[in-house]
Amino acid sequence: MEKIEHIGIAVKNLDKSNQLFASLLGKSHYKTEEVSSEGVKTSFFQSGPNKIELLEATSPESPIAKFIEKKGEGVHHIAFAVNNIESEIKRLQKEGFVVLNETPKKGADNKLVAFLHPKSTNGVLVELCQEID
Ligand code: ZN
Repeated sequence: MEKIEHIGIAVKNLDKSNQLFASLLGKSHYKTEEVSSEGVKTSFFQSGPNKIELLEATSPESPIAKFIEKKGEGVHHIAFAVNNIESEIKRLQKEGFVVLNETPKKGADNKLVAFLHPKSTNGVLVELCQEID
């Protein structure tokens, strides 16, 4: 793992939260992106070397909709940058972590991503992400 790439935050209303986080961070988001396979609309803020990803559900079946239903708005996942996602997945499986996506999938922000099940990581949904060149 290289560094914390971003922190994902589940929100009910992306427009409102974009304003809130712009006030908080003192700058606007630099992009929005819809990931239809995940049923989410996202926006990204830069904060020093790290990013904040806001996630709004675009359908009631979206994992974000279900998360908010259960837990309310808040921190949804922590994403770590990795150089080689396939070898990192294998390493973590060997360590006993439950990998939800054995084959990495295309995520937001031009990344290949895979998630670890929170039951194997003290309740924290962990995302691995590798920049696609
Ligand atoms: Zn993320």
